[in-house]
Amino acid sequence: MLGLMQDRPLLISSLLTHAERYHPRSEVVSVTCEGETVRTDWAGIARRAKKAAQALRRLGVKPGDRVATLAWNTHRHLELYYAAAGIGAVLHTVNPRLFPEQIDYILNHGAAEVLLLDAPFLPLVDGLEDKLGKVKHRVVMTDANHMPKGRADLACYEALLASEDGTLDWPVFDEKQASGLCYTSGTTGNPKGVLYSHRSTVLHAFLCCQVDGLHLSRADSTLLAVPLFHVNAWGIPYASALCGAKLVLPGPKLDGQSLYDLSRAEKCSFSLGVPTVWIGLFKYLDEAGLKTSNLPFERVLMGGSAAPRALLERFHAAEIHAFQAWGMSETSPVATVATLLPHHKELPKAQQIDVLVRQGRAMFGVELRIVAEDGTELPHDGSASGELMVRGPWVTSGYYGGVGGQVVDKDGWFATGDVAKIDGEGFVTLTDRSKDVIKSGGEWISSIELENAALGHPAVEAAAVVGVTHDRWQERPLMLVVKKPGSSVAPAEVLAYLEDKVARWWLPDDVVFVESLPLTATGKLDKKVLREAWKDHLVKAGV
Ligand code: AMP
Repeated sequence: MLGLMQDRPLLISSLLTHAERYHPRSEVVSVTCEGETVRTDWAGIARRAKKAAQALRRLGVKPGDRVATLAWNTHRHLELYYAAAGIGAVLHTVNPRLFPEQIDYILNHGAAEVLLLDAPFLPLVDGLEDKLGKVKHRVVMTDANHMPKGRADLACYEALLASEDGTLDWPVFDEKQASGLCYTSGTTGNPKGVLYSHRSTVLHAFLCCQVDGLHLSRADSTLLAVPLFHVNAWGIPYASALCGAKLVLPGPKLDGQSLYDLSRAEKCSFSLGVPTVWIGLFKYLDEAGLKTSNLPFERVLMGGSAAPRALLERFHAAEIHAFQAWGMSETSPVATVATLLPHHKELPKAQQIDVLVRQGRAMFGVELRIVAEDGTELPHDGSASGELMVRGPWVTSGYYGGVGGQVVDKDGWFATGDVAKIDGEGFVTLTDRSKDVIKSGGEWISSIELENAALGHPAVEAAAVVGVTHDRWQERPLMLVVKKPGSSVAPAEVLAYLEDKVARWWLPDDVVFVESLPLTATGKLDKKVLREAWKDHLVKAGV
């Protein structure tokens, strides 16, 4: 027997309609590429999103069509999140930090006919000129005063909006329709498109607003330091409308000083970013002689790569609750969140941090398991480690256009490529990406744990550990360290510092100081580049 409840579709437009009705005056503050601060609110975003939707339709966008963006975190990009999805089109966010060849591939594969871009990305797009065959309309996301001169081939976003009247009823359609497209960074092979649906997006937004999720609420003023151009900015553009949170969009400036000033000016209670962003912020505080307690945040969420213990400690010492979430493009992205359980609350701070350095527990809706190389399921005992598999209503079932073939097994499990342990309470600890695993004499060494331990040393600014060729053990760990400016430390001191923090046989065979470490377009350590550059180091050095 079927239930007799109404079958109303979960549509992205309903989030905006709700925000417009119940949180109209909750602010959206945006720093534009021209450096202006634009103040609007959810009612303003809703009004302009309708005009943007009309403009997209006028450019010929139909349901199912992709609408591509190359843009920073601004109110205009936020409007397009709602405008494109609202009319049944698919917002295809493109990461401008990727290599031009990847951007070219992604834009052609997504095959959008309309590309909206921030003016600073014009040289990048011009460089791809002959290759963007499918793009018919290029719209610069700015006003008439800031339009590039003498470019009849470009439309002006504000001019397009100005010619619309904003009267539009969001259409109602199947919640399983696609709403967004984001390509994974693709460290091997071409990038692959993850295609989100209205249903997956709205369900994921609910989870962001759970107290034991990201705890986002109307009370928050949220500084969004994760880009709108990658994995839906962790779902916050949608979740903020759901709960009516104030949203602060920093535009292109993600340096420490800009984030510090903006967060204080807008009294931001919450912020989200990859660890690199927080490292940059602390660097600024140290250089400027400012205290961590000057930051206005109550909560800070890290993700995208492992949250270094030293970062968590520094926030917590200033009574800012830093925590982390794990996920990936393929999981919308949030899948696990590290929150303290009631019995952790009594523990000393250091032991609470022991909990928070883990990647967290599955949110309702997300199922997790770990499997051995032969596919057998491993126990959740906190010591067995294997590939993390995930399943759930906001987890991908396949890549756009069928690329990569069948990516879930017969029971619907998606192999994440991450290697993890899960303990009896369900806390996941990520030890590596499967391709970054260091296998020394047949045993696994966790590069993440080694890096995390090294980051606790006061002279270490950044650390990366990669497996490099070794005559006897096939592979041994090599640690590359960037020193903090003005500090001096010897390799032996770093090794001595690590001694009581990791198993003895995990200690790197060498520590080398470098000027900087390569990062991928999504802010993760680029270990492929490091492995290639350093693969013969131990053999050559005869270590
Ligand atoms: P992306 O699809 O670009 O968002 O990258 C997803 C990958 O980032 C995951 O598969 C993990 O390897 C890594 N990642 C995300 N969050 C964390 C975290 N909290 N700790 C460690 N690695 C993470």
